[in-house]
Formats: sequence, C-alpha cells, structure tokens
Amino acid sequence: MRKNAVLFLLIIASTTLCVGSFADESNAILEAARNTQPGFIKDLRTLVNIDSGTGYEPGLAKVEAFLVKRLKSFGAKVETFDSPPAKGKTVVGTLHGHGTVNLMLMIHYDTVFEPGEARKRPFRVEGQKALGPGVADAKGGALIILYALDILKRRGLNDYQTLTVLFNPDEEKSSLGSRAIIKDFSSRQDVVLIYEPPEADQVTVATNGIAWVHLDVTGLASHAGSAPEKGHNAALELSHQILQLKDLGDTKKGTTVNWTTLQAGNIEHTNIIPDQASAVADMRMSDLTELDRVQKDATRIIQNRLITGTETRLTVESRRPPFGKNPATDNLASLANQIYAELGKAIKPVAMRYGTDAGFAYNPNSDKPTVLDGMGIVGNRIHSSDEWADLDSVPSRIYLTVRMLETLSQGRAQ
Ligand SMILES: [Zn+2]
Repeated sequence: MRKNAVLFLLIIASTTLCVGSFADESNAILEAARNTQPGFIKDLRTLVNIDSGTGYEPGLAKVEAFLVKRLKSFGAKVETFDSPPAKGKTVVGTLHGHGTVNLMLMIHYDTVFEPGEARKRPFRVEGQKALGPGVADAKGGALIILYALDILKRRGLNDYQTLTVLFNPDEEKSSLGSRAIIKDFSSRQDVVLIYEPPEADQVTVATNGIAWVHLDVTGLASHAGSAPEKGHNAALELSHQILQLKDLGDTKKGTTVNWTTLQAGNIEHTNIIPDQASAVADMRMSDLTELDRVQKDATRIIQNRLITGTETRLTVESRRPPFGKNPATDNLASLANQIYAELGKAIKPVAMRYGTDAGFAYNPNSDKPTVLDGMGIVGNRIHSSDEWADLDSVPSRIYLTVRMLETLSQGRAQ
C-alpha cells in the first residue's frame, strides 16, 4: 500500500461509520472482545509463569510450543526459524484470505528476567492490575494478537491477502538472531503492527535507535611500585578520554551518549600499571546520520591525548536502527484514534525513547511497510519487579486490533 492509500482507508473508515450494519458488526466485535477476559487471564498466567529470559532455552521452548499450537488452531501455516546466536526460535504463522492487502502482527516472547524469577514472584492479580515477569512486556501483547485472531476467525473476517504473525525470542538483546527474519517478512507487508506495551491509551509512532560506542585504550604495563614511569597507564588515558567525550550527544536532534561501563586493570594485580582499558557508551538517536556524526566528532576529540605512548580507538556499533516519524505511520495512528472513538475513547500518538523491533520492520527508503508500534496491553514499570499490565485495557486493545485489521483489509479489497 502506498502512503496515500492509508489516507484512503481513513476515508473509508469514516464513511463506514454511517452504515447501520457496521454498528451491529462493531458491537459484536466489542462484545466478543469483552468476553475474552477469563480465558485471557488464564493464558496470561500460564505464559508469565514460564521463565523465558533471552537465552534461556528451556523456557523459550515452552512458550514457543504454546504459540505454535495456538496459531495452528486458527488454521495458520506455521514455520519456526533458528535464530542464532539467540536461543529459541522465531515463530511465523501465516493465514491466507481473499483480499489484496498483506498485514503482519509481531512481538517478542523473551523477557529481561533470569530463570527462577517466575517462581519468586508468580503471576498475580490485584484489582485490575496483573503482575509478574513480562506480564506487559510482552506476554500480554502476544495474547492481544492471539485473541484478536480468534475473533477474526470466528467472525469470518478474512479480507486480507495474507495475515502474518511473527513472534521472536531475542528482542531484549537487540534481536541479533531474528532481525534478518523480521526485515525479510516486513519487506513483503503493507502494514506491520507491533505489540509493545503502551503506558496509557497510546500508540507509538516513533522509537529511538540504539548504538554502542566502544572506547579502547592500549598502553604499556609496568611495575606500579618500582617502575611506574616505564608504563603508559591505559586507565588514566581512558579517564581523560571519557571526560573529553562526555558531550557527544545532541539535545536538538534527540541524540544521547552516556558512558555506562568502564573496565581497567585487575583487582588481583593492583601493582601493575594497566596496559588495557575500555569503556562502552549507550547511544540513542532518532536520526541515523548521527552514527557517522558521533564517530567523526569522537575520532577528532580522541587525538588530544594525556598519556604519551597510549593508543585510543573508538568505534560506533549500530545495535538497532530508529523507527523515524513519518506521515504514513501518523495516518495509521489517526485510524487507531478513529477506532477508539467508536468506544468513546481517544488514543494518543507518542514517540518513545527506547528502541524496539519497529526499527527493523520500518524501512526509511521504502513506501512499504507502514509500521505502528505500542499496540499491546497497557502497562508500566517494565523491566522492573513492579511491572504491571492493565486488565481493563484488554477488551479495547483487542477491539482496536480486530477493527484495524478489518478496515485495513477492506481498504484494498473494495
Ligand atoms: Zn518489549
């Protein structure tokens, strides 16, 4: 779908609002979305109580089996892909309809937590909050997809050409193994929706890219007591360089560079002038050209040396590209808002500072696909032991997905 085709869809969506049978259909979808609650909570308990931290193969295999089984129950053709160096597989299910639009829903099923976490603080519900490791990020999101698919199937809504679902096992560690698969499947879609958790009634229209800035200093070792003057202290030079490199960010462009990890010397050998020292900075940017800019600026700055005889190298390693703000995504967010209006609610488009797989799905050099993130369960405090998901958001979020898919499919079929 070309970018202006999304605008076309918005027009269709607004005109359909006047049709009586539309109201019956959307009421039926809402009713079905509300009825998912007991099953949804049961499945969320099952998934949260399985440890599936990135790299923990036994847990990832259990979640994978759950997802594959569920996808097959909807009649999807399911493929699983090894995703080295990651443990666990990337699961891809495909459904074929009778339309012309290709749609994909995706989310990761790994968490940031270590094995044993689920036993320490198993799934629990307090009022309308569900708690437990990965409850919002992103096991709740995986279930929003599956329950929306269930409603589509039961209501015979298949006006798409293909509806693809992708679950990956390594998002929390930069999707090193699944990124090629994500890019490949995304390139064949008109629209890709991603189910990371929003913090409120929101969708995500832009995310930051992530890079690591590596700083490595080589010096010369020597006895710290008897011949320090014969050494070239790499630790001292590293400290000097870090101070010089503390302002690599650019507030106007939204680029941050923060030195978070430093390493030098050996605690078992405090009597040696260290010959190696290294540091890594966490870099976030919304503009890809910032990778080059930081590399150039930093390379110039490090020429100013404190300790003669040391050698400093700096490299910027891109970990995840940004999902940049773009008009096609904004139009998709407007469609989401329009659908939320059917529920008497509003949805707000937001830009997030973290990085997600939206950066791999989105291709700034192509019209396809249009990407929208933050479609998952509403939640907060992710990556912490207080992480929670809002169970009240479940019917609205399922309704949003079903109506988005219905509208986007019909846009081209008509
Ligand atoms: Zn996530």
